[in-house]
Amino acid sequence: MKTLNQFHFKNKKVLIRVDFNVPLNDAFKITDDSRIRAVKPTLIKILEDGGSCILMSHLGRPKAKEEEFSLRHIVDKVSDIIGVKVKFVTDCVGPKAEEAATKLRPGEIILLENLRFHKEEEAGDKNFAKQLANLGDFYVNDAFGTAHRAHASTTIIADYFPKDKCFGLLLEKEIVSINKVLIENKKPVTAIIGGAKVSSKITIIENILETIDHLIIGGGMAFTFIKALGGNIGSSLVEDDKLPLALHILEQAKKKNVTVHLPVDAVIADSFSETANTKEQSIDTIPDGWMGLDTGQKTNAIFAGVIRESKTILWNGPVGVFEMKPFSHGTISMGIAIAEATKHGCFSLVGGGDSVAAVKQFGLEKKMSYVSTGGGAMLEMLEGKSLPGIEAILK
Ligand code: AMP
Repeated sequence: MKTLNQFHFKNKKVLIRVDFNVPLNDAFKITDDSRIRAVKPTLIKILEDGGSCILMSHLGRPKAKEEEFSLRHIVDKVSDIIGVKVKFVTDCVGPKAEEAATKLRPGEIILLENLRFHKEEEAGDKNFAKQLANLGDFYVNDAFGTAHRAHASTTIIADYFPKDKCFGLLLEKEIVSINKVLIENKKPVTAIIGGAKVSSKITIIENILETIDHLIIGGGMAFTFIKALGGNIGSSLVEDDKLPLALHILEQAKKKNVTVHLPVDAVIADSFSETANTKEQSIDTIPDGWMGLDTGQKTNAIFAGVIRESKTILWNGPVGVFEMKPFSHGTISMGIAIAEATKHGCFSLVGGGDSVAAVKQFGLEKKMSYVSTGGGAMLEMLEGKSLPGIEAILK
């Protein structure tokens, strides 16, 4: 793997694809700057070597040049976080970008305007990629969040740097973490798959069955399994067309010696609302008009027991509607159990779904071995797909 620490960047102008697609409020203030903080180690290494940084990113989904999507809004915050005054360049290609890149001196950083102001970026246009490539003499990809896209700045540009390219420290950490789960894992390996629907998780489950020893199923998707097994699930979320698929997954798991753990009880509610009437009861006898919105206490204890015995954990998707307080206890209990296991030496990766939001919301982020920064990209890796942004560096 070509990683940052294998190179020295003295006098190099390094083009770095970062993911500064940060959330902004109505006053254009950043509400979560973790994506900027995440690439700081990469930038510091390059600057300390005596190199300079040309930062490229997208922000949002602009249709053309739209001021609200300008990276100008974030440049001061980037300067604060990195500790170096970052110069903003009003275009990412053309004379302004060329002039700024030519004038760049070791120790300096420039931030180019939103790549997606040019439609050629998402189209993966070769000529546009070449114009970007001409600005620097080394290419680093540290944008895991867009590594599953074959865009000009994430993939095509790498062709113009046959040797002088590598992964940034963040992207390296993402790859190492997923490998620790899927390849160089310590057994037993447990995957917790939750979230709303079976249909959006099926490819992941099929892919990881080869690797894991335990599969914990929670969240809305558990009810499709419970119904397929003959249980009454009342008005809980269900995908009726996926009942045979649920049974097929259970069969496949059995063949592959994977133990499946389904919830045994649930917190049920008489409406999908924070103020609904609730009670706790067995998962397969839910009365009509009631829906399961969280795992019950018996389930939480069983799941925690499986987690305690695990040496490797993958967590994708909450086990309840954690956004509403009455239905957040299962997901919190899951997070605490994983944090405990991690403290005792288990490797835990949280990624590719709302479980990332959950661990952040409940202040458990630092207690996990690694929390992925890329939703869609992590999902595709878990599905066993190779990502174009990663392949482009490897070739
Ligand atoms: P995903 O993006 O697939 O990981 O799904 C996350 C969503 O699943 C969250 O917004 C949860 O509120 C939702 N969810 C979890 N458990 C349930 C449930 N029992 N019924 C309905 N939605 C759920």
